[in-house]
Amino acid sequence: MTDPLAPGSTIGILGGGQLGRMLSVAAARLGFRCHIYEPGTEPPAGDVAHAVTTAPYEDEAALRAFAEGCDVVTFEFENVPTAALDLIEALVPIRPGREALRISQDRLTEKEYLSDLGLAVAPYADVSDADALARALTDIGTPAILKTRRFGYDGKGQARLTSPDDAEGALKDMQGAPAILEGFIDFSHEVSVIAARGPSGEVACFDPGENVHREGILRTTTVPARLSAAQRTDAVLLAGRILNALDYVGVLGVELFVTPQGLVVNEIAPRVHNSGHWTQNGCTVDQFEQHIRAIVGWPLGDGSRHADVTMENLIGDDMDRLPELAKEVDTALHLYGKRDIKPGRKMGHVNRIVR
Ligand code: ATP
Ligand code: MG
Repeated sequence: MTDPLAPGSTIGILGGGQLGRMLSVAAARLGFRCHIYEPGTEPPAGDVAHAVTTAPYEDEAALRAFAEGCDVVTFEFENVPTAALDLIEALVPIRPGREALRISQDRLTEKEYLSDLGLAVAPYADVSDADALARALTDIGTPAILKTRRFGYDGKGQARLTSPDDAEGALKDMQGAPAILEGFIDFSHEVSVIAARGPSGEVACFDPGENVHREGILRTTTVPARLSAAQRTDAVLLAGRILNALDYVGVLGVELFVTPQGLVVNEIAPRVHNSGHWTQNGCTVDQFEQHIRAIVGWPLGDGSRHADVTMENLIGDDMDRLPELAKEVDTALHLYGKRDIKPGRKMGHVNRIVR
């Protein structure tokens, strides 16, 4: 695919969660049709898409039919099996490319890639068994965090160690999965950069947001983030560096720790990102439209920030506050249409304009 796609073209999205839902809405605004591929039933994205395939990622016939009906395929979910991607890629371009997925799927590969680019990351070591963990603890010390290399999200698959005595329990928490030990970064706060790159290499970054997590889950993102002018420049330059190295097309989220020694990269996400939801009400073109523009080969839009915003995630019982939230001034509600409210489940978010 070299020419820009025309309105009316079909964009395939692997994964049907809230990110797919908001991508689909943004695509529809530009006249595109989205086809969602999702193994689970009642995907939030299905309500607002042109077509939905409900099938496992192992169903070759369903994958083939899906790919044949799409002009480009993207994803909102990083753990799509390699075989499914191979099958799709033989029929239609996948954007962003496979390399970004491969690297971000595995925390060890990701750390190696980022440090090879010259970027600062937490001290880390590959941990496959108790001996390796003991060695890693000698090298790195405590406090530290043991994380599964793959499939972690919202702080799942992580165990904190405050002393070497915690080693046994932490390893048990990994349930035999390959893991990585990370030294604990003594950060003052966390920020993220949501960055976009088009097929011809142009880059646009949204203003960095400041993120607050509770129980491993993102609670709020506030813009502007507390950063010096130099840190702001650093954040944008390092995001651009990663995008170029990956020859990336689409939106990428870069999570950063702010320390007195400079910015330390926590992780990257090769997709639109929860900490970029504020852009829906703080920018003319939000992260979802920016991603769609990039993958269909349109010029990137104007992502400059026109307001101060705080995004608050609505998690589980936060939905009880809906009647009050709906009355708040300067507040935009975004709900994901999920039927079952569960503790820790992201049900929606609000963007509050701060005046
Ligand atoms: P998410 O899905 O929210 O991005 P995740 O499961 O991928 O989360 P991480 O981003 O690795 O997990 O960690 C979640 C949070 O835990 C971080 O945002 C940070 O607050 C804390 N954390 C993770 N690693 C470190 C570290 N090395 N030092 C200090 N804090 C850390
Ligand atoms: Mg994270």
